[in-house]
Amino acid sequence: MKKIALLGSTGSVGKNTLEVVAQQPDEFQIVALAAGSNIRLLQEQIKLYRPELVSVGSKELADELRHSLGASYKPEIVHGEEGLLQVASHPSANFVMTAVVGSRGVSPTLAAIEAGKSIGLANKETLVSAGHIVMETAKKHGVEIIPVDSEHSAIFQCLHGGRREDVAKIILTASGGSFRDLTREQLADVTVTDALNHPNWSMGAKITIDSATMMNKGFEVLEAHWLFDLSFDQIECVLHRESIIHSMVEYKDRAVIAQLGTPDMKVPIQYALSYPRRLGLQTEPLDLIKAGTLHFARMDFARFPMLKLAYECGRLGGTMPTVLNAANEVAVARFLQGEVTFLQIEQIVESVCESHDVVKQPTLEAIFAADAWARQAAAR
Ligand code: MG
Repeated sequence: MKKIALLGSTGSVGKNTLEVVAQQPDEFQIVALAAGSNIRLLQEQIKLYRPELVSVGSKELADELRHSLGASYKPEIVHGEEGLLQVASHPSANFVMTAVVGSRGVSPTLAAIEAGKSIGLANKETLVSAGHIVMETAKKHGVEIIPVDSEHSAIFQCLHGGRREDVAKIILTASGGSFRDLTREQLADVTVTDALNHPNWSMGAKITIDSATMMNKGFEVLEAHWLFDLSFDQIECVLHRESIIHSMVEYKDRAVIAQLGTPDMKVPIQYALSYPRRLGLQTEPLDLIKAGTLHFARMDFARFPMLKLAYECGRLGGTMPTVLNAANEVAVARFLQGEVTFLQIEQIVESVCESHDVVKQPTLEAIFAADAWARQAAAR
């Protein structure tokens, strides 16, 4: 039985995780939940999944939640940063699904690894921000990090087709996001509503904006670099508008192994939970005849400068990816609040990265300091 602590239960991956758990009651059990401020949904989740431990964003929300639950069933309720860490290291859990958004996932992920939990990683910002520390800690504790990001789950599955030392490169596919058919000029006056309308995937707001700027793919390049120990020259991106091929691995002999399927996050989520087994899942089977034609196009760095920047920051290493991520988090939040335009997201992120003095081989403290500095710089 997988006993799961779920960080970020009211987000998109969190909700999908709970649906997968509901489909497999003999395989998976929820023992702890952490959410931010969506108390109404969290209440429903608590009633359905009856966790032992629950964490919410603040003390006020924790009090509200305590009052709202009936007298017959009372989980332990904690809150804030400390609460998130408690859920991540909850003694009853043997698997932690990290589905919070942003670099705030770094500390709970490290806490879960140090507590020896298997990790389902749905929080790519954790690896972007502190990849070397997270991977080193996982190695030290003998903990397996299983990717949930659809592209990385695909690569993880394709890697079973050969020996790691025989891999030539990997190819990450990108749908192109909500603005894939617009020119740079047309991007000048796009709205938040336009940006949130992703053609293939239903996801949270932050990642949908990151897909539109292509920063998401840039982060995925960094995520793949750390997860699979590949150089940046071994990681390629290709536009594939149908999102049917979720990614590919090319071996030395030029054999390419791909993983395909209907775009549904429940597939990679369940695979992370059931690995190395495969379980039945209620989802749309892939209909290749209906799909008809699959399209591929070169990634244009001039059209998608955030992807180029991500490669540059990744190659520079140290605190540079930390700063890239933190600046982006703030810039995207400002766009969602209507404070800056879509193209200003790029301008903010570029200018913060340009003014950063990179720290090589940073400690965790140096990473948190760079993160905080970049947030301040991006807010100005
Ligand atoms: Mg992805």
